[in-house]
Amino acid sequence: MKTVLITGASRGIGAEIARTFASQKYNVVINYNKSEEQAMCLAKELEKSTRVLCVKADVADIIEVENMYKKIKSVFGQVDVLINNAGVSLNKLMIDTTQKEWQNIIDTNIGGVFNTCKTFCLDMINEKRGKVINISSIWGNCGASMETAYSASKGAVISFTKALAKELACSNINVNCVCPGVVKTDMLNCFNKDELNELKCLTPLNRLGTPKDIANAVYFLASDEANFVTGQIITVDGGFSL
Ligand code: NAP
Repeated sequence: MKTVLITGASRGIGAEIARTFASQKYNVVINYNKSEEQAMCLAKELEKSTRVLCVKADVADIIEVENMYKKIKSVFGQVDVLINNAGVSLNKLMIDTTQKEWQNIIDTNIGGVFNTCKTFCLDMINEKRGKVINISSIWGNCGASMETAYSASKGAVISFTKALAKELACSNINVNCVCPGVVKTDMLNCFNKDELNELKCLTPLNRLGTPKDIANAVYFLASDEANFVTGQIITVDGGFSL
């Protein structure tokens, strides 16, 4: 049975990705940082269909990521699919962004991707198989006003994906990236009803994305059907960024 690790799986898109892989009988590792109760609740739900491990780790901290690796290794062995979903956002003018806020976004959104890839890819290289899927954002491509730190961190995830795909192709490891558009999760709590409606109207498919829309694309990239797909940036945004 294959094992998937989803970082930031306590809520939102990550939780839905976990549900999708659980329904396909993967061993599921739910990583969380602050939302312990939600992570445990999800684990209880998924334990009805598969084996689940819940691990607390701040992805920005390499020591915590290494400890998470040891726990997973002792329970499931190698991680076959690594999904870097954990992320934080910041809606602020660049001029008002503090150095601490900037660092937190960079350390979590791209530092976290480096930390997990560095820790988990060695087993994949030795086994000559594995899939890495990184969650970026349309703003990593286009850049968003009042989200310079977030856009920069997500742009870095895109170029990291392309570079790592080239580096790991000879080890038969696929590295791809999904760029969600506007998806209804806690991350949109900074927007009021009217603003959300405006975002909906700006989306050609005339609705906001759901976590399941993103989970479906991620699951495809993890499947054997995507064995010849690597270094790709798949946008799932209902046409928002066209
Ligand atoms: P969300 O509902 O706010 O959930 C964020 C998740 O990331 C939570 O599970 C959180 O865990 C986890 N997380 C944050 N910092 C972490 C850390 N240092 N270590 C481990 N986990 C951490 O956000 P979401 O909308 O599901 O976003 C998921 C991913 O999609 C993010 O990378 C985000 O940038 C990307 N994205 C979202 C949208 C959107 O419109 N929603 C659009 C484009 C891209 P805890 O609560 O346990 O700390």
